[in-house]
Amino acid sequence: MTAAGTPPPVADRPVPRRDEGSAPFWEACAQGRLVAQRCTACGRFRFPPRPTCPACRSFEHRWEDLSGRGRVWSWIRAHPPLLPAFAELAPYIALVVALDEDPIHLRMIGRLEPACPEPAIGDPVQVGFERVVDQVIPLWRLG
Ligand SMILES: [Zn+2]
Repeated sequence: MTAAGTPPPVADRPVPRRDEGSAPFWEACAQGRLVAQRCTACGRFRFPPRPTCPACRSFEHRWEDLSGRGRVWSWIRAHPPLLPAFAELAPYIALVVALDEDPIHLRMIGRLEPACPEPAIGDPVQVGFERVVDQVIPLWRLG
């Protein structure tokens, strides 16, 4: 563990695939910012990044900074057997977070750090970030 309480970088953990559509999200994470696409036609947030708005089918959007705050919508505790790259993290908690900006349509999945205490549905969480291989990915902390 580092002084900040996050695990050291892991060399062999799989990372999400970065493509043209998601690059702005990953670039923001590398800067310690959480962002999401927002449709400029109807105003709805959309995540994960995609070419068209699921509400109005518009291709138009902008990237908006988010507060990084949300609430636990669901969670699981992952136990072995796991993929080998995740074994050293086990048991860990994976969350679905409903973000404050739009708890219905804007939900993200990530790991809770630290894995104790167990969260309750509705607990407030705050985003953090960890570097895995060559990518910075969001994680979540209670509070
Ligand atoms: Zn729209």
